[in-house]
Amino acid sequence: MRIRAWPLLALLLCVPVQAQILPRENPVPGGIVVVPVAAETEPAPEVYYDNQRVLVMPHAGKWLAVVGLPLSVGPGTQTVQVGGPDGRRRVIGFTVRPKDYAEQRLTVKERRMVEPSAEDLARIARETEIIRKVFAAWTEQPLTSLRFAPPARGRLSSVFGLRRYFNDQPRQPHSGIDIAGPVGTPVTAPLAGTVANTGEYFFNGKTVFIDHGQGLISMFNHLSRVTVTPGARVNTGEKIGEIGMTGRVTGPHLHWTVSLNNARVDPALFLPDDIQNLK
Ligand code: ZN
Repeated sequence: MRIRAWPLLALLLCVPVQAQILPRENPVPGGIVVVPVAAETEPAPEVYYDNQRVLVMPHAGKWLAVVGLPLSVGPGTQTVQVGGPDGRRRVIGFTVRPKDYAEQRLTVKERRMVEPSAEDLARIARETEIIRKVFAAWTEQPLTSLRFAPPARGRLSSVFGLRRYFNDQPRQPHSGIDIAGPVGTPVTAPLAGTVANTGEYFFNGKTVFIDHGQGLISMFNHLSRVTVTPGARVNTGEKIGEIGMTGRVTGPHLHWTVSLNNARVDPALFLPDDIQNLK
């Protein structure tokens, strides 16, 4: 009997391609959980986590909520609220596992960057408010893939989540990844989106924000040049600036933060497995 292998082969070829539209799941602080919330035959449901709207996308016959978990979340049960077509809200639970992030100690020569003056602190407070608003934004936009292209070529010089000490003083954990490269290295959009904000910030230096839609927002810091303006639409791979060393840095690199439902999550979860050297 002849085995009809072609349909099977086609199926096998399709599976990995389909799977590549989602980020890797990691149900830990700073990670991502994927929660099936409705059948795809229903209209796209509205999902909330921690009072923030959550990204949803159709996949394999279901609507999936792709939930970002903040670094501050504790281990245990968390819930999403799902709005149904009847206007009622359902609650779906999921489990967050604990994760211990490593410690990192850095020495910054410019003391002002570690112990800012009163004037600097006022500027930092103003900038923190601007940045908070950009990350809290929601733009309605269907997304077909959540897989990112690396935004710069270079060496991964710092991973996400490190508990940081600058000149022996405890500071905020590392809320993104660092890609080291020479000043002038092009920085490109890892996924299509709209430039939500550009500016020069005290700690972050020259910065670009890209709103990819549905609360998925990228921030690029320490640039030497910004080559886009707010409101511009950018495609995957389009240049937005160049690597620099503006703001609080120890050398030239790109710092890249990814925010999902206003939670800063590990950008590596959106990239291919091997990211030690990004090409
Ligand atoms: Zn960084």
